[in-house]
Amino acid sequence: TRKFFVGGNWKCNGTVEEVKKICCMLNTGEVPCPNHIDTIVAPPFVFIPLVKSLLRSDFQIAAQNCWVKGGAFTGEISAEMLVNIHIPWVILGHSERRTLCGESNEFVADKTEYALSQGLKVCLCVGESLKERENHETSNVVAKQTKAVADKIGCWANIVIAYEPIWAIGTGKVATPEQAQEVHYNLRKWLDQNVSPQVAQNTRIIYGGSVTAANCKEIGSQPDVDGFLVGGASLKEEFITILNARN
Ligand code: 13P
Repeated sequence: TRKFFVGGNWKCNGTVEEVKKICCMLNTGEVPCPNHIDTIVAPPFVFIPLVKSLLRSDFQIAAQNCWVKGGAFTGEISAEMLVNIHIPWVILGHSERRTLCGESNEFVADKTEYALSQGLKVCLCVGESLKERENHETSNVVAKQTKAVADKIGCWANIVIAYEPIWAIGTGKVATPEQAQEVHYNLRKWLDQNVSPQVAQNTRIIYGGSVTAANCKEIGSQPDVDGFLVGGASLKEEFITILNARN
């Protein structure tokens, strides 16, 4: 059985005051025992040390992105730096970075390979645009994004895949449980046929895109949905409800 996984991606939001409030909200929330859930919180880089100092230890911290090797890369944060300050997770390939920062499948795959090699765990984001969905290209697009990574890595133990349809991100237009299940099922099948049955069975595939307290239970009960990557709702009290989606 795959352990339930819920990540809160704060994106480019927050002030010191807000971060303190959110940490307080998380620290006092009733959440499942860490044996049953991986809870990940991904603040902007500058707030990571503050969040780390405030948050209880059953919440794990993720960076929202990283670079490969350190060096002459102005404005970037290397995978080694995250390891150096004991950040266990990094989100890579988020659609906002793919579209706004021009990150290609290959670049995301290079970063994933490098982050894993340094000992980081990776939450790899994949997902199609509305146009691609309308053209019935969803499973192809997701398979291509996954293949770029599969071509470069050997071990999948430290990867979680987040399926995030771009049309559902920040739009309030959540995928139906059936739509999510279909893509997750197809992606698992792709892993089964192209990586290995074991990797297909063990790799967690989580859903992201307008997840809320109101819709998390139904989506989270689909057989191939192993958790969520939450944006907007992760900044609010309702994140606690989402962490309890399986209860
Ligand atoms: P929203 O939950 O705000 O739609 O964002 C989803 C997301 O992009 C998480 O990475």
